[in-house]
Amino acid sequence: MRKNKNQITFTALLAIALAVFFFLQQYSKANTPAGEGLRVWFFDVGQGDGIFFRTAEGVDVLIDGGPGSSVIEKLAKVLPAWDKQIDYVFLTHPHADHLEGLIEVLQRYEVSNFIESGFVAKTAGYERLEKEAMSGGEKKIIAKTGDRFDFGSDVTAEVFWPEPGILSSATDTNDSSIVMKLSYGEIDFLLTGDATETVEKGLLDDDLNSEFLKVAHHGSRYASTTAFLQKASPLVSFISSGKGNTYGHPAPEALQRLITAGSRVLRTDLSGTIEVEVGRDGRWKIVCEKTCK
Ligand SMILES: [Zn+2]
Repeated sequence: MRKNKNQITFTALLAIALAVFFFLQQYSKANTPAGEGLRVWFFDVGQGDGIFFRTAEGVDVLIDGGPGSSVIEKLAKVLPAWDKQIDYVFLTHPHADHLEGLIEVLQRYEVSNFIESGFVAKTAGYERLEKEAMSGGEKKIIAKTGDRFDFGSDVTAEVFWPEPGILSSATDTNDSSIVMKLSYGEIDFLLTGDATETVEKGLLDDDLNSEFLKVAHHGSRYASTTAFLQKASPLVSFISSGKGNTYGHPAPEALQRLITAGSRVLRTDLSGTIEVEVGRDGRWKIVCEKTCK
């Protein structure tokens, strides 16, 4: 009887020890600076976008900061505690679900370059963000079609949108979204902000073909057109949307078009933060905070 009790205690202790071991392993993995490849995270920031990547040599790039300030916790999970510097921060377009988190990022981190589309929004949030961007030492850049960013370690981005002319004529802020193709060797990520059907139409002559697609506008029914998806032909598409959001994102119609195009679809509302790790050899794997289903 006593022996059985001891065995149970031993098994319980072993189970606890294993749980601690795996927790620490996960924790240290999450805090390990990028090794030999590119690591891209689609942060679960609720109903908004927050994308972060880190090159092999440790260049950090944040694209949008989501609503609220949850992006700060997400960054703390992937950046070493001592690293308070972000090399590039992009705002794809000045809507609250993309810009709010960036205000605190600019306050807490030393940002070297701040890039936006050039679309000026008359909102209190945008004014606060601009004030922060003016008071820091960051270089301000307006991105436009044809611009190219070289992040080192064989990682580049080509800007497809906005066309300079769109800024004065755009009636929808989403039409000004920065769309770019992030490339690491042969592997491409097409990042679309909240691009609309109009933007997608304007991009059809570009080399859209990409392994990975950040789906436009949280999976809105008005984006992810069949013609666009045929050109992009993504293996995996990522949708950044909040659980139970009032917009009904992602829309069933958009999901169906993605599936018809042959893409696997992952959503932050179901998977939590999603990470894509790309090795030097071009092989990649996807890790999800909750489930990759
Ligand atoms: Zn949005």
